[in-house]
Amino acid sequence: DAVRPVRALISLSDKSGLVEVAQALNDLGVELVSTGGTRASIEKAGLPVRDVADLTGFPEMMDGRVKTLHPVVHGGLLGVRNAPAHAEAMDQHSIGPIDIAWIDLYPFESTVESGAGFEACIENIDIGGPAMIRSAAKNHGHVAVCVDRDAMDQVIAALTADGATSLNLRKQLAARAFARTAAYDAAVSGWFAAQVEDAAPLRKSIAGTLAQTLRYGENPHQTGAFYRTADRRPGVANARQLQGKELGYNNIADADAACELVAEFAEPACVIVKHANPCGVAVGADLSSAYQRALACDAVSAFGGVVAVNRPLTESDARLITDIFTEVVIAPGADDAAMAVFAAKKNLRLLLTDGLPDPMQAGSVFRSVAGGFLVQSRDLARITPADLTIVTKRQPSDAEVRDMLFAFTVAKHVKSNAIVYAKDGQTAGIGAGQMNRRDSARIAAIRAREAGEAQGLPSLAEGSACASEAFFPFADGLLEAVAAGATSVIQPGGSIRDAEVIAAADDKGIAMAFTGARVFRH
Ligand code: 5GP
Repeated sequence: DAVRPVRALISLSDKSGLVEVAQALNDLGVELVSTGGTRASIEKAGLPVRDVADLTGFPEMMDGRVKTLHPVVHGGLLGVRNAPAHAEAMDQHSIGPIDIAWIDLYPFESTVESGAGFEACIENIDIGGPAMIRSAAKNHGHVAVCVDRDAMDQVIAALTADGATSLNLRKQLAARAFARTAAYDAAVSGWFAAQVEDAAPLRKSIAGTLAQTLRYGENPHQTGAFYRTADRRPGVANARQLQGKELGYNNIADADAACELVAEFAEPACVIVKHANPCGVAVGADLSSAYQRALACDAVSAFGGVVAVNRPLTESDARLITDIFTEVVIAPGADDAAMAVFAAKKNLRLLLTDGLPDPMQAGSVFRSVAGGFLVQSRDLARITPADLTIVTKRQPSDAEVRDMLFAFTVAKHVKSNAIVYAKDGQTAGIGAGQMNRRDSARIAAIRAREAGEAQGLPSLAEGSACASEAFFPFADGLLEAVAAGATSVIQPGGSIRDAEVIAAADDKGIAMAFTGARVFRH
């Protein structure tokens, strides 16, 4: 099983560490073969190296597209040394074995990342590199394949200790090599799909490149990873992290929820999210007022939350936000003074998105199920005053209509069953994720009452608009909302008991609008 290597092929775009490794292999008596640029670097260091062109009898050609694609290279990598037919072919065609391959691939991912144009990205799709890596990995019985410096160091350590590589090590290296070529091809296919106008939207949005291996998943005993899709939508996946600890799985999910919701508003707005649900949402004259109003809705839940805003942050905003413990702040930007304030809070993660996700952009949403996954298009429902049908005797005031639409927009981002009370562009109480609508209405009422108490005020739900993301199946949920202080209600309508619910609303003298659209979120 042990292989005492005679020859190594090195072909690297990134030459860092090359000379050191070449020196070590040379000291171990391993002959070096390299492609043009790599060979030049080794030669410059005064070490013996053969040009792969000597082996193939062909020069590198077509701008480097064809360098190593030759039977003498692939035969040397793929030949099974102890299979008589292979040995005979190697002999007959003067194919010498290649026992170690260190190949890093053209930097396709970073070329795309840098915003390079189509042609430059295409030229950075490595063809010969992945072919050699796959040949060497397939023939791990005889070849040690290295796709990074760390792998190469393992091989050198084995050679230094034993003069040979073990099968076990070569197998591990092969697994790593195939993972690398698979990720490389995924990056190429994801990018390419996004270049093709009529590429199926699903294909576009599921082709991802690894953005980050996460310390763990939702819980420490789960693994996690974060992928970036090729559609380059501004938001958490394309944000720059300026400070703070590494983002975790839940941080990313919550930052996304907050950022997607805050992007729905045209006015300066702030969203505070806890466990994927907003606990306070407000618009304001500026971000500071929006933040204070969002916080006032539920200051208890806001502790350790994620704060998202839809304008660049200033120093005064940063001072307010850093007043309490916040895990993540996500914003389209921040000025220097704001960044200086955040910098004093070392643990706070600051994410800048340089733009906001377009709430109306088409895309796909996924969820796994046992043995498969579900896909649906993004929820692009957006309700305007023209979409509303007033179903009660009392007509809502203009202010009530504004609050209804605000509350309904928030409800779209709250786990079902969702009830949201809102007044003057500020949530008053949010009831999320209950198994019946009446409980959501009650929980939202408790929040609104306690938020009022904390400020020496009556319940914040007094005079509020109540949004329900799906119809009230019975009048009971609506009556809870009225009892909490709501004077207007917005809901999709469409229940077989609509008449009963409308009658209850008329009886209480409130105004109610139907949207005709349901905005479940499970
Ligand atoms: P060098 O700087 O040594 O000329 O080029 C090194 C790079 O070329 C490596 O990243 C390697 O993966 C890539 N490479 C090696 N052989 C081929 C080939 O035949 N075609 C292409 N397109 N790339 C190759």
